Amino acid sequence: AVRIHGISKSFGALKVLDNIELSLPAGSVTAIIGPSGSGKSTLLRSINHLERVDGGFISVDGELVGYTQKGEVLYELKEKDILKRRTDIGMVFQSFNLFPHLTVLENLIEAPTQVRGASKEDAIAFAQELLARVGLSDKADAYPRQLSGGQQQRVAIARALALRPKVLLFDEPTSALDPELVGEVLDVIKELARTGTTLVIVTHEIGFAREVADTVVFMEGGHVIETGAPAQILNDPRHPRTRAFLAKVL
Ligand code: ATP
Ligand code: MG
Repeated sequence: AVRIHGISKSFGALKVLDNIELSLPAGSVTAIIGPSGSGKSTLLRSINHLERVDGGFISVDGELVGYTQKGEVLYELKEKDILKRRTDIGMVFQSFNLFPHLTVLENLIEAPTQVRGASKEDAIAFAQELLARVGLSDKADAYPRQLSGGQQQRVAIARALALRPKVLLFDEPTSALDPELVGEVLDVIKELARTGTTLVIVTHEIGFAREVADTVVFMEGGHVIETGAPAQILNDPRHPRTRAFLAKVL
């Protein structure tokens, strides 16, 4: 489970996250929607400690992200320990970010062998299993540039899974794709949702959010305006700001 407790973040005078409070049960799928600049990516990056928050804390299965606690005081972890802790929290970006000079298989075994100390043999076996799950067994020896955007994104998802994360974060995973490639990536994410992986997905795909999410979070101006089941938030929003946003995107 992921617990986000009272986190705030400013860039200079701009408050981008204002006292965000969210609880994501293990195995749940949360979709975050909201207008551009509302703080969605910053929130996601904070969960991973790619952004350092100004206040509040985040924990994954009871372990603080980026910090250790002594008495009442939080101390930031050393870079090495941040990296180790971060392997619990996978992230998939809009732009696939694969290592261009490595094959698909090499992309998948890099972090498990380098960061987790897995044997090459075990890492390869698991990588092959993951490639089968995302439907790309035949691309193990291809280089990223030889793949379509949708295939690259499926490799990026498999690569994130290779570290056996407790939670997987997606920041607009389909918005860089040609429309005909969106479906194959959403299908892989749907399958992950079915198998009980804890997922947090920032998305503009409202139909997808409705279909896979247990909870939809609407953000605006650094605030969580409203959160609830998809049917409630998307069909019958309580807050006028949610209504105004949905009127524009639906
Ligand atoms: P989009 O839907 O366009 O991706 P978003 O909801 O993900 O938007 P964020 O990327 O979290 O929004 O940005 C929230 C606000 O913080 C924006 O006003 C943005 O310009 C600002 N911001 C984000 N990162 C930085 C940074 N590193 N330095 C300064 N301002 C930043
Ligand atoms: Mg964003």
